[in-house]
Amino acid sequence: MNPVGKPGKTGSLMAVEVALARLLEMAESSRIRERERLPLAQVQGRILADDLVSTLDLPPWPNSAMDGYALRIADWTGEPLVVSQKIFAGQAPEALRPGTCARIFTGAPVPAGADCVEMQENTEVQEDELVRFNETMAAGQNIRPQGQETTVGELVLPAGTRLGPIEQGLSASLGCAELDVVRKVRVAVLSTGDELIEPGQTLGPGQIYNSNRVLLCSWLQRLGCEVIDAGILPDDLATTRARLGELKDVDLILSTGGVSVGEADFLGIALREEGELTLWKLAIKPGKPLTFGHFRGVPVIGLPGNPASTLVTFALLARPYLLRRQGVKEVEPLKFQVPAGFDWPKAGNRREYLRGRLENGRAIIYKNQSSGVLRSAAWADGLVEVLEDRTLIEGDHVNFIPLSEVLG
Ligand code: AMP
Ligand code: MG
Repeated sequence: MNPVGKPGKTGSLMAVEVALARLLEMAESSRIRERERLPLAQVQGRILADDLVSTLDLPPWPNSAMDGYALRIADWTGEPLVVSQKIFAGQAPEALRPGTCARIFTGAPVPAGADCVEMQENTEVQEDELVRFNETMAAGQNIRPQGQETTVGELVLPAGTRLGPIEQGLSASLGCAELDVVRKVRVAVLSTGDELIEPGQTLGPGQIYNSNRVLLCSWLQRLGCEVIDAGILPDDLATTRARLGELKDVDLILSTGGVSVGEADFLGIALREEGELTLWKLAIKPGKPLTFGHFRGVPVIGLPGNPASTLVTFALLARPYLLRRQGVKEVEPLKFQVPAGFDWPKAGNRREYLRGRLENGRAIIYKNQSSGVLRSAAWADGLVEVLEDRTLIEGDHVNFIPLSEVLG
């Protein structure tokens, strides 16, 4: 056990904010500048490369928000008005004949000369196409004005926006068939450890199945990265060197395990020899040891190997780093305060990210918070943040970070 982590020595642990700020600075200085143009249907999960500025007024013309009748209020004396035209969505109406009204449907252009739409529920249709209006009406009522959503020249989505179904829909409404997006970040995923074998094989003595590999590969895909699955690296210096050397054409090498101060931490040795390595001891739990470095110029992030530590450090540090390399501004997950549904009698010197879920508006936590227990995260729907040096009694507030915020 490394004495640095023991209470009373908090000074040598790095606060998670400090680590994140450094990572983001490095991400900023190696931003991916290449871009590609993609059809709108293919930009899901990608990052917008340029500001999207509207070339349209939206809506392009005033249109009706209701099924009803368009009229000019000044024409209404209390007497019924004759219906002079019928306007469906998709049609171009004539100007409203003075002293008349127009039958109009939702989304149809409001005819020139009309200043109000009355919904049909407030009217009575009489014989001979006459309509009686029963309520007083106000100018502009039930009309969606031209440019209500956006006007020509307005910035609609800034560069660096992550594109999802909503942004795709909005771009479509502005007539964009293609968008320029930042090229995908290429991430090589390495699992280290002689004890690891892949699912599907039979476990031998001392072996465990590699869970981090698939966890990270599929998570990275969800983040829009190009994943290079570099498999398992044995605990052996020569192989470590050789395999790292093969990973040339990538933007990041993301490894798990093998970066603490154990004897089998060959990744650390290889990085020191042929690049640089900073080993951070973070004031977070799980996930104390984290490495950042370079191997022959390629950035390397080494996450701790215990699966729950991998999850927490990826969510809080590697994910924001990867997003920022693509130019995303808002990279930190949303968190909100909820009352704790548990007591926390013993203050820790590291910030805890407990795997928890919300029940009746309170955060409860999984019974086993060991960093080796990934099941805690499968049970959970969020990370419950308990600040360092804090004790809690039930009802005190804690921060809650939904896992759905960080998984995508
Ligand atoms: P290490 O940092 O290599 O000492 O690993 C810390 C702990 O995480 C050890 O118990 C490892 O067996 C475990 N571990 C490391 N990598 C993985 C992996 N890819 N999948 C599951 N467990 C792992
Ligand atoms: Mg190991």
